[in-house]
Amino acid sequence: MKTIFLVIPCYNEEEVLPETAKRLHKKMKQLRKAGTVSEQSRIVFVDDGSKDKTWKMIAKLHEKMPALFDGIKLSRNEGHQNALYAGLMQAKGLCDAAISMDADLQDDIEAIDEMIAKFEQGNDIVYGVRSQRETDTFFKRTTARGFYKVMKHMGVEMVEDHADFRLMSRRALEGLAEFREVNLFLRGMVPMIGYSSDIVYYERGERFAGESKYPLRKMLSFATQGITSLSVKPIRLITSLGIGIFLASFFILIYSLIRHLTGHTVAGWTSTVFSIWAIGGLQLLAIGIIGEYIGKIYLETKARPKYLIETWLHGDTEPEQTQKDA
Ligand code: UDP
Ligand code: MG
Repeated sequence: MKTIFLVIPCYNEEEVLPETAKRLHKKMKQLRKAGTVSEQSRIVFVDDGSKDKTWKMIAKLHEKMPALFDGIKLSRNEGHQNALYAGLMQAKGLCDAAISMDADLQDDIEAIDEMIAKFEQGNDIVYGVRSQRETDTFFKRTTARGFYKVMKHMGVEMVEDHADFRLMSRRALEGLAEFREVNLFLRGMVPMIGYSSDIVYYERGERFAGESKYPLRKMLSFATQGITSLSVKPIRLITSLGIGIFLASFFILIYSLIRHLTGHTVAGWTSTVFSIWAIGGLQLLAIGIIGEYIGKIYLETKARPKYLIETWLHGDTEPEQTQKDA
């Protein structure tokens, strides 16, 4: 029987928390009774510096049912990704697997059973993927599609239509802890951990109550974070642009020479126009080259693990020797 922790970041969620706690309590009771999860399994709420009654509610839940509800209070609002990470790191070592989900009941609680089943089948990571996007506005749908496309171009491996509803095994959590970076974009980092993984499809509902804690401004900064935390390709674009403009300067040279020879120019124009293009291109190229090194430094400072071992078939030499000796 496996010990499963549910990790739920909460920021000003007083409106949904009672309902979320009620439903998760019911689910956990059912899972414990069915023998799917151990009695040590629990629900961990992470309060991300809420300004409303969220923490009071969490503390009360823990007081009433200390064997079921845990609470972690962050010292200030650190953002969804950091709050989630904090919860996962606290859970690491105490559970066989942790499932992260949103507090607003948009993630389908019923998908948890299937996630655990796939975990039992030997998967270290189980991604919750939404089966449709009909509940989204047209705007959110198209921007999301565009975002996944851009990320793919940037060479970032991501599971499409997967947010942060996922199960991670103990060793996957340990793997995540090896990533020393500070700017977190978990849905892009988790696939880098590797191990065997699977997908569970679920229908994403509407937020149960309250307002989205991700206004457009936060969404845009989150998307930028995704690109700049995981890809150094934008720097390469500068290099390519520099090469392109430098090459174009030769065409400009020919063009301006023709204009000069046909007497269409004033004195000094030909050399000036050519120089602007040639020097501009070279400057961009130089910036790109410097950027390439900065990109390397950037990746080095993240101190990501160079590898994680999945299996080690390690022959023990001792018994054989003993046999020979005998
Ligand atoms: N959240 C958080 N800190 C923040 C913003 C959001 O912990 O600064 C939590 C929030 O309580 C919720 C989850 O992150 O559990 C997702 O937020 P939300 O549902 O508002 O985002 P949306 O579903 O609208 O993208
Ligand atoms: Mg939500």
